[in-house]
Amino acid sequence: MSSNTKYIFVTGGVTSSLGKGIISASLAKLLQARGYTVTIQKLDPYINVDPGTLNPYEHGECYVTNDGAETDLDLGHYERFLNVPTSQSNNITTGRIYQTVINKEREGAFLGKTVQVIPHITDEIKRCIKLLGETGDFEIIITEIGGTVGDIESLPYIEAVRQMKWELGHDCMVIHLTLIPYLSAAGELKTKPTQHSVKTLLEYGIQPDVLVCRTEHQLSKDIRRKIALFCNVQVNAVIESLDASTIYDVPLMMMKEQLDRVVLQKLKLPLKQDPNMEQWKDFLGKLKNPTSEIKIGIIGKYIELKDAYKSIAEAIIHAGVTNECKVNVEWIHSEKVNEGNVNELLGNLKGVIVAPGFGDRGIEGKIAAIKFVREHKIPFLGICLGMQCAVIEFARDVLGYADAHSTEMSPKTKHPVIDFMEAQKKITAKGGTMRLGLYPCKIAKGSKAYQVYGKGNIMERHRHRYEFNNKFLAEFESKGMLATGINPDSNLVEIVELKDHPWFVGVQFHPEYRSTVESPHPLFVKFIKASMEHCK
Ligand code: GLN
Repeated sequence: MSSNTKYIFVTGGVTSSLGKGIISASLAKLLQARGYTVTIQKLDPYINVDPGTLNPYEHGECYVTNDGAETDLDLGHYERFLNVPTSQSNNITTGRIYQTVINKEREGAFLGKTVQVIPHITDEIKRCIKLLGETGDFEIIITEIGGTVGDIESLPYIEAVRQMKWELGHDCMVIHLTLIPYLSAAGELKTKPTQHSVKTLLEYGIQPDVLVCRTEHQLSKDIRRKIALFCNVQVNAVIESLDASTIYDVPLMMMKEQLDRVVLQKLKLPLKQDPNMEQWKDFLGKLKNPTSEIKIGIIGKYIELKDAYKSIAEAIIHAGVTNECKVNVEWIHSEKVNEGNVNELLGNLKGVIVAPGFGDRGIEGKIAAIKFVREHKIPFLGICLGMQCAVIEFARDVLGYADAHSTEMSPKTKHPVIDFMEAQKKITAKGGTMRLGLYPCKIAKGSKAYQVYGKGNIMERHRHRYEFNNKFLAEFESKGMLATGINPDSNLVEIVELKDHPWFVGVQFHPEYRSTVESPHPLFVKFIKASMEHCK
């Protein structure tokens, strides 16, 4: 570890869902805007090796990094805020920690010692935390500890933080995110839950340096003094975090509370410049003052839980801002769509996205929706499974293969227009075995995709097992569905589009993972633009 790498830990108290990820990303943004190199890491206390095998209902979206790690959705926030890619090292789970330690034990690496939570598990946790520091790429590492202080399963992480604080002194600090609830009957903000959660941290040997207090009402001077007194922190280290109308407000709110200053002082680092947040403010200004408004639809099967499509929702916000347009999203359950009601459900939409997904549920609804937007010339963006459904729909309706399907849903179909890759056929394990991460794609000149990207060679992130079946390619192209993006190494089809349609694009990859505030993704930007034009 380079001797001057600084480590900031973010723990959570009182309840989950206080927004540790957003606070971590906001602090990182401010430090970056002062001229520091920063990255953020998430430690998740569950026993799955990664969230790749988790149902989105359990844990929201699975976010995929350039290097093909299947990770927690908070990493999406880190990238969207910092505009710097994350990697496998940015997300560690208890499952991964134990797997590494147990593998070492089987190799005999512990030389006959009893393998224990302390020191073996905590050592492995510390090793994972320091990995990012050792790359030499970052001056500051922010590590978010998943869960709430006091949870049984996060104890080894808290113990590792205690040890690191002891070992690193001023190079290490702890921010505790907590809740100050408002009791309307008493008309008062209550500090007791925060006092208790800091006491719990103290029992584990950790004195937090900063308290970020989530609250629905402003914290008075008196309340701040009271929290500081009971929790052994300086008054200026009691940071108010009011509910925000958009997550993109939070960095500026934290700047106003001087969180970045307090943190740099604790770490004994120079303040450098005032945070340069001009581009960010420009983004927020446009977000809050749109000059037009449209309604688009997203069709998926997890719409009860918006977190399942977090990156798509955020990419749409970025694209709306670029077009100075407020994009209202209608979330439509794919299981509810059929040929009888599709006009009623989709008729007033200016653009439609069909979402990624796995398995059979809701497939026919997605296909009915695609037929409708294809025939009614409504702008369409199909992502991963959404693209595969567009291929199936075209095969059924235009090529005339009524049974056309993906072998994922219908292994015996005579027309497997979407099929397993040869190399995938022998794989039976589910974890980490998909086509994952960044792959190159070559785009045909003169295509819509080329207009979108403005160049012929791109890289995009993948997460899927099934592929367009090239046996049918010539037939598709002769009838008007063109493969305009191809992987130059494997010849796999990555982009399809329709010749006779104002804007109909399906992509096998996930553009949403790469859209950030500073660099909105061109596919979403142009899809929204096409949808705005469809209004006219
Ligand atoms: N289920 C499809 C496949 O595995 C699509 C995956 C996705 O949409 N991410 O290929």
